[in-house]
Amino acid sequence: MHEIQKYYLDVIIITSKFITKTVIMKRGLYVHIPFCVQRCRYCDFYSEIYSPGHAKEYINVLCKEVGRLECDYQSIYIGGGTPSVLDVRSLERLLSALERKRWPIDEFTVEVNPESLNEDKLKLFKDYGVDRISIGVQSFIDKKLKKLGRLHSAEKAKNKVREVFSRGFKNISGDLIFGLEGETLKEWRKDLKEALILPFSHLSTYMLTYEKGTLLHKELRRGSIKPLSEDKVASMYREVSAILKGAGMLHYEISNFCLPGFPCVHNVNYWNNGLYTGLGPSAVSYDGQTRLRNIDGSQRYIAKFFEGELPVSSIERLTKRKKARETAALKVRMAEGIDFEWFKDSTGFDFISLEGRAVDEMAGLKLVKYIKKDGRLRGVKLTARGFFYSDTVSAAFL
Ligand code: SF4
Repeated sequence: MHEIQKYYLDVIIITSKFITKTVIMKRGLYVHIPFCVQRCRYCDFYSEIYSPGHAKEYINVLCKEVGRLECDYQSIYIGGGTPSVLDVRSLERLLSALERKRWPIDEFTVEVNPESLNEDKLKLFKDYGVDRISIGVQSFIDKKLKKLGRLHSAEKAKNKVREVFSRGFKNISGDLIFGLEGETLKEWRKDLKEALILPFSHLSTYMLTYEKGTLLHKELRRGSIKPLSEDKVASMYREVSAILKGAGMLHYEISNFCLPGFPCVHNVNYWNNGLYTGLGPSAVSYDGQTRLRNIDGSQRYIAKFFEGELPVSSIERLTKRKKARETAALKVRMAEGIDFEWFKDSTGFDFISLEGRAVDEMAGLKLVKYIKKDGRLRGVKLTARGFFYSDTVSAAFL
């Protein structure tokens, strides 16, 4: 077996001076569908323009890859791109390949966009055990949707959310974006309030960033648009937290809110620096020691598969120290913060010995604070200000 193919096994052997034990670890499975009808103006994710014939060929390869997986997965996440752009036949092929594995899944998510989701696809998702639908809504304001380059209208998005709920899905997540050029606090409040009227159990709210290579970035460079000031964006972020928390949602991660009992299991595994396998172009896999990144381009990905080669563009082997630092940088994104005991159990490192200097620096900037219990320091977490500057904190921990 190729050394890297060990990725497909879930048996991790932990060796210390005194013991050798074998631990069966569960992990998340991410399946990337890299196709979209058109490119949104802000998007820098890897995606290609959808063509039914090529997508069919790609799904064939994915199904074969799924058949070879040997791990137990606790969550499956079919993301993109736009998974709902696939036709019913292709979706069914993929879902039945996953179903044949009979994994004891805790959560099964499919990402959809309002314009390509229909009744037949929803029925298929229900029949194959999908229990979480994540909808790329982005906004409930037509003018904003147009600026973002989205294909759906506000009305369509609302109707689709209601339709998903009426089909028996109780775990529905919506993506919203804020901080667009010219956007006002009033408009952003309207988006949040519309979302709260709908039956969402989870909301992900993303601050717009002008990533290189996107259409919005080009316009920014040409000077035809002007970004909002940092103060304005910060006040929009504060508004998200106040409005959604006021409506009973938990702010459990910097960009994510849920009703009690509905956090995203798949993403929580990422933030815990847990193990995962990624299938598809640009997807990433991590087995606790090595991180593999797949090549971009579904044509190349398919070709590699038929040549019997792994479709990998980079392999990073992590030292225990690097892994521990990454765990700190990821886990701090969660509202619960980093519990020192949890950190020691997960990484083998004492948090303060490893990150004490960075914590002092971040505490000086009022971005993190200690968690105290029974008069003792038990952990560290972001302050309200730290939530907005979480990238600075994560960078300090790395
Ligand atoms: S934002 Fe989503 S739908 Fe739009 S181009 Fe990116 S992946 Fe496709």
